[in-house]
Amino acid sequence: MRGCFSGSGRVFCKGACTVKTKKLLAIVLAAVMAIAAVPAIVFAADGPELQIKSLPDTVKAGQQYEFTVGAANCGDLTGKMVKGTFTYDTSMVEKLEYYETAGDAGWMELKGNEFGPAGTGFPLMDLTSRFRVTFKEAVDDYSFAVQIVAIDGGAVLAQTTASIDVVPSHTHTAQYVAAEDATCTDDGNTAYWYCTGCGKYFSDEALTVEIEPEATVIAKLGHNAVKTEPKDATCTEDGNIAYWYCDRCGKYFSDEALTVEIEPEAIVITKLGHNAVKTEPKDATCTEDGNIAYWYCDQCGKYFSDEALTVEIEPEATVITKLGHNAVKVEAKEPTATEDGNTAYWYCEQCGKYFSDEALTVEIALEDTILPATGETETPTEPETPTGEDGTQTPADEQPDTGDSALPMFAGLAAVSGLALLALRRRRK
Ligand SMILES: [Zn+2]
Ligand SMILES: [Zn+2]
Ligand SMILES: [Zn+2]
Ligand SMILES: [Zn+2]
Repeated sequence: MRGCFSGSGRVFCKGACTVKTKKLLAIVLAAVMAIAAVPAIVFAADGPELQIKSLPDTVKAGQQYEFTVGAANCGDLTGKMVKGTFTYDTSMVEKLEYYETAGDAGWMELKGNEFGPAGTGFPLMDLTSRFRVTFKEAVDDYSFAVQIVAIDGGAVLAQTTASIDVVPSHTHTAQYVAAEDATCTDDGNTAYWYCTGCGKYFSDEALTVEIEPEATVIAKLGHNAVKTEPKDATCTEDGNIAYWYCDRCGKYFSDEALTVEIEPEAIVITKLGHNAVKTEPKDATCTEDGNIAYWYCDQCGKYFSDEALTVEIEPEATVITKLGHNAVKVEAKEPTATEDGNTAYWYCEQCGKYFSDEALTVEIALEDTILPATGETETPTEPETPTGEDGTQTPADEQPDTGDSALPMFAGLAAVSGLALLALRRRRK
């Protein structure tokens, strides 16, 4: 401020000048002469005037406003050593600066209320000095005064006051943020209003209750996961790997730490499908079971009666039980001189086998049953023996073998009746 308010001019200053009067801006200029200091000019008609200029009636908090303080009409007081004093509430001012012309110092922050050299002061002159001010946010109406005070005696030579209306830097632009529930992995929040202009949070729509951003947060819940044990797939049912499922968010994880999320499909081990092999049908025999055609899966051990494997059957249902022999006994027959005889035997017409016992346990060949003819030809009844073309022997042939030649007639009768029996038997076969 050195050099400001200094210069040549008239010596006499007196009275007060109101530069501007409005509702919110009033500038009062007052000059008080100190009789002891400047006795000759105490009641001079004119005196130095101070003017605050360029400051709007209404200013916004947080913004920088430049204004000037001009001294004029210094007259005979020109050159008198003075100091300048700002009177203001520092708690409402963010920053007050002055422009220092000396040494091209530029804008300097005003520390304390006084400007100009504290001890010697500066010479008063008609001059305009530049200032700038930034008000704090919470300030409403505000006024401050500027005085020019004489160094010798401290008399106030000139004074002016400015009253201004300080409004907030902006009107809150509130955005409503709806409440949102917390999830397993994401924080939720309470309902709140947020001003995009100043970045403040409010809990009420009227924006009267400011809150901290943290107060809106509802902490995330974390997963509520339960493990499912692994299960092998079968022919007809899917299996699964071991996995963890959170019933709160419906997510699946492959690890207990729940760090590897997987798709639900990824837990499935697809069913294998049957590995069925067909067994061809086989007829039952006298001694061995047969079977129907069937399909057997060696994975699950199941039996099916159809190739599509849709009709499952019991293993027993594939079996065709063995038939058992259907044997007929052939009675024993003595050989004759010319005809073979045979032992008693059993013949099964189903399997064509011969057995020597009724229990059908001793299988024999047909040849084993033959009793060869005796080869003796002396028999009177021979011509009468009606041996058939099939070589069937008659009991009459046996008669000569007995050596009982004393009963030829009886033997002949017996031969006839024996022939009749054989004929009957043959027809039955
Ligand atoms: Zn705001
Ligand atoms: Zn979860
Ligand atoms: Zn199977
Ligand atoms: Zn048989």
